[in-house]
Amino acid sequence: MKIADIQDDIIEELVTREQIDAKIQEAAAQVSRDYADKDLLLVAVLKGAINTLAAFSQALSIQVSMDFMSLSSYGSGTESSGKITVRQDLSTDVRGRHVLIVEDIIDSGITLDWLIKELKNRGAASVEVFALLEKPARHKVHIDVKYPGYEIPDKFVVGFGLDYDEKYRNLDSIAVLNPKVYQGDQE
Ligand code: 5GP
Ligand code: MG
Ligand code: MG
Repeated sequence: MKIADIQDDIIEELVTREQIDAKIQEAAAQVSRDYADKDLLLVAVLKGAINTLAAFSQALSIQVSMDFMSLSSYGSGTESSGKITVRQDLSTDVRGRHVLIVEDIIDSGITLDWLIKELKNRGAASVEVFALLEKPARHKVHIDVKYPGYEIPDKFVVGFGLDYDEKYRNLDSIAVLNPKVYQGDQE
């Protein structure tokens, strides 16, 4: 699905598909070099990160394993609740593994902060992060992102895996949702 298909729901396109692909290629090239002699496990947080994981993993030139975790902090609203619930856990034992978390977006950072600590507690040999998007104005906790993506303003975005109420995930770029879409829902 492209911007033109849902014009009325969108205010502006923030990151084009070309920009997404360029950033993913750049990060993947760096990760391929950094982990050339290591056994790497990619961990993605469902569901938002699946598009990023798919594109990123294919852009790597090294062999990796992948696993998924479903965490919830958002519900169907647009504000983080601050409380993390594990909906579905990894099927991999991360003890002794080099883990790279592949994330769609860092907003408050609360989810990622929790996940990094959790993976380290489980005995991962290393835990690093690639995040396609970041909203610096919204950070509540500091996170060391070894492979940063694009910084975006404090606006609620959808597309490339990111949803509003389970919709818009299949938009092929990143766009600012027209607030009328969610304001309507609250009335
Ligand atoms: P955080 O814990 O950093 O506040 O954010 C956790 C999750 O909230 C992100 O991984 C993402 O799934 C969701 N999220 C944060 N900001 C946005 C946004 O602008 N749009 C959408 N659709 N989801 C977001
Ligand atoms: Mg996410
Ligand atoms: Mg969501």
